[in-house]
This record gives sequence, C-alpha cells and structure tokens, in this order.
Amino acid sequence: MNIILLGPPGAGKGTQARHLVEERNMVQLSTGDMLRDARTSGTEMGKVVADVMDRGELVTDEIVIGLIREKLEGTHAGGFIFDGFPRTLAQADALTDLLAATGAKLDAVIEMQVDDAALVARVTGRFTCGDCGEVYHDVTHRPAAEGVCDKCGSTNMKRRADDNEESLRQRLMEYYKKTSPLIGYYYAKGQLRTVDGLAEIDDVQQAIAAILD
Ligand code: AMP
Repeated sequence: MNIILLGPPGAGKGTQARHLVEERNMVQLSTGDMLRDARTSGTEMGKVVADVMDRGELVTDEIVIGLIREKLEGTHAGGFIFDGFPRTLAQADALTDLLAATGAKLDAVIEMQVDDAALVARVTGRFTCGDCGEVYHDVTHRPAAEGVCDKCGSTNMKRRADDNEESLRQRLMEYYKKTSPLIGYYYAKGQLRTVDGLAEIDDVQQAIAAILD
C-alpha cells in the first residue's frame, strides 16, 4: 500500500508516518529528512538547498523528484508513506509516473487538517531525537528524563533551523500557494481522505488505520 500524508508543517505527518512504519512495516519517504541529511553530510546539493530551506521556501521540483526517484528504484513489500512529498502539482504528476513505472499505484492521500493558530505553538516548541527520530514538544510532550529520549535513551536532541515563527509563516504561505491545490487534484481523482489533525495522536492514528483498513 502506498499513501501520501498531506498537510501543512506541524500537522503531525512525521509522527503518524513513524507509527505506520512500526505498525505496518511501511517505509517513510520524507523529502524534508532527505534534504536535511544532504545538508549535514555537506553534499553539493545540501549546500544549494540550505538557504532555501532556512527561508521556508520550497526547493526545486527537479531536486526533490530526483531524491524520490532514487528511493523508488527498490520496491518494498509494506509500501511507501510519502511524507512532505508531493508539494506541487508537478511533483504529484511525477509521482504518478514514477509509481506507474514500477507497476505500483497510489492507494490513498490522507489530508491532515489543522488550523494555523495551533501550528505556531506546535512547531516552535518541537524537538526530535537525532538518533531515533522520536518527536517531542516543550509543553505537550517532554521526555520523562530531561534531555533523554524515552524510546532509545539517546541524549542527542535536535531542533530544526526552520522551526521558528518567521520561517513557519513562509512555509505556510508556500503550503497554501503551491501545495494546497493538491487537495483538489486528489479529490478529483477520488483518492482524498481527510482526518482531524488536531485530535489526540492516538485518535489520529485510529482514524488513519480505519482509512487504510
Ligand atoms: P519538511 O521537513 O517536510 O517540513 O520540509 C522542510 C523543508 O524542506 C521545506 O520547508 C522545504 O524547504 C524543503 N522540502 C521538503 N520537501 C519538499 C518538497 N517535496 N518540495 C520542495 N521542498 C521541500
């Protein structure tokens, strides 16, 4: 099963994707994570995209489609979760073609609906374990022991450079301008499903499970 998690920054796509990886043996393909890896490993592409990401703008379709193309060369029995991709209509068309080329198809597009006011608080307070990727929040989800990951015991906590209010506003503008047209695009194809992204994490998990089952 191949699915897209669609929604603005802070909607909870990464958190839900991680759960699906654990529960359903799916593979998470997050273009944001791939781009951050490219930055930290100092590749040419990483240098090119660093400023764009920090400003909260979108990197070029060509770059992100190239990243996804590489990952789709290997198939995976449990299927893929596209997290943060596609973000433009051109990327959506490319994904359809890439999947078709491997004989696969998209099974569902799950839109996680949230309102902007909640996103600022969610995004500016979040940090993640740099080793296992568990997501935390200064107010709503602190680790049991300060600075120590509940899941893997690592003390390597990280905050994203673009998780500040100014970048978030730009990321939201990009979302409404370039990504939200995908809602109509997938609705017209009969593939769009919607969940309330403001519900408790467990409730969102259940709503997604109900769609997938
Ligand atoms: P994310 O982790 O999904 O919030 O992405 C972080 C940043 O990476 C975004 O603000 C963009 O600058 C860039 N990015 C991630 N995915 C894409 C994509 N599909 N298209 C263009 N830019 C992307």
